[in-house]
Amino acid sequence: MSTATEAIDSYGGVLDELVAGNWVNPKTGEQHSIPPEAMVIAASLDGAEADLISARHHGKSMVVVCDAFTREALGKRVYEALKPLGGVTEYVWQKPSCSEEGVKALQEATRGTEVLIAVGSGTVNDSVKYATYLDGRDYSVFATSPMNAYSTSTASVSFGGFKKSIPCHGAKGIYYDLGVIAKCPPRLISAAFADVICRTTAQVDWLMSHLLFDTPYSDTPYVLLNYDEGDMISNADQMLSGSVESLAMLTRISAIMGLGTSFTGTTHCGSMAEHMISHYIDMFAGEAHPRTSHGEQVGVATLTMSRLQNMLLNADGPPEMRPTVIPEADLHSKFGSDYATMMIEQTKLKALDRSAADRLNQRFADDWQGFADQLRAVMLPYAQVKTAMDAAHCQTTGEELGLPPGFYSDAVRYARFIRERFSALDLAADSGQLESYAEGSV
Ligand SMILES: [Zn+2]
Repeated sequence: MSTATEAIDSYGGVLDELVAGNWVNPKTGEQHSIPPEAMVIAASLDGAEADLISARHHGKSMVVVCDAFTREALGKRVYEALKPLGGVTEYVWQKPSCSEEGVKALQEATRGTEVLIAVGSGTVNDSVKYATYLDGRDYSVFATSPMNAYSTSTASVSFGGFKKSIPCHGAKGIYYDLGVIAKCPPRLISAAFADVICRTTAQVDWLMSHLLFDTPYSDTPYVLLNYDEGDMISNADQMLSGSVESLAMLTRISAIMGLGTSFTGTTHCGSMAEHMISHYIDMFAGEAHPRTSHGEQVGVATLTMSRLQNMLLNADGPPEMRPTVIPEADLHSKFGSDYATMMIEQTKLKALDRSAADRLNQRFADDWQGFADQLRAVMLPYAQVKTAMDAAHCQTTGEELGLPPGFYSDAVRYARFIRERFSALDLAADSGQLESYAEGSV
């Protein structure tokens, strides 16, 4: 690399080893690499942009894609820096929309250029990812907030008003300038924090499913997240004060969360019941949807799940499991037949029959504490999660999200039906404890 990039004050931590392909999981001895060719986290990338990009896309024609906000934040600087490379243009997307139509418009507007350089989070990043996937073009991205979508290979695209997570491809290079990220709207930092603190509830759910039903499980992403999680949580109050160290921790954790799928082949490691509750809100809030972001919803749901998991696993005795009751008529009248049919199908895949319930009860009778201990080892105390979220100015209730009265209770009550993943919601429901818990969730 040239002097400009050598001078970068790197905050990549374990990501630098992952990018180089020489990180070894100390628990398994396995060596791991990741799909992006470059991930750079630095106190500042000012002046290094052209070197970073030409190392990935040498000699290619490029278009820098931003919207009016991200242009001001970073896009203009990136464009000016890349211009001397030649063959570089700029596209300021006036009405960005990560919808079928929006992505088509982006494809048209950038047609004829080999590589797209996204500058921005959410809409710009996901649209560029999906558009270049459809065209078979390459892209790289400069982050403007600390979210995890830069390093995932899925895009959240809306089709006829419905958001879908579409598997596509990842960026060649992902570049995080912490000085820029520090200036993003504080709400985005709080949301990013809320979306990664779900590690604890997702891991408990996923490990529980593995212990009870022998479903596949890998702790590689958790070993990686563990490098920073403790410090990130204890410094949660520093997130919004622009502390480079704290933002670097959040950025690394978000990036690893986004890469989770590349280690495990599934999204389970960072998406269990807390994400189902968020999906429920997106699916059914309709006109009453408060337009809160994914991270904000996941944060509230993480608290709900953390309190439930702590309640179930710290109980003196085991839950008494019964065969799963799927309230088919209720689901039909509440959600209509299309959704109800999907929910019933999904739930049947994890439903306990009499013998499965008996088997779990026997297992719990044999060694409830041993079972609970394995989960408690990866669970954070509820109070710790709540304190950290308060410190990072996250919303903590459905009411704070702006949901209408009663909606959030229903989300807790019904979210388990939308996906076949077995979670603490199922453990509570199939032992008769979910109804009262949902009633108290506002
Ligand atoms: Zn998420």
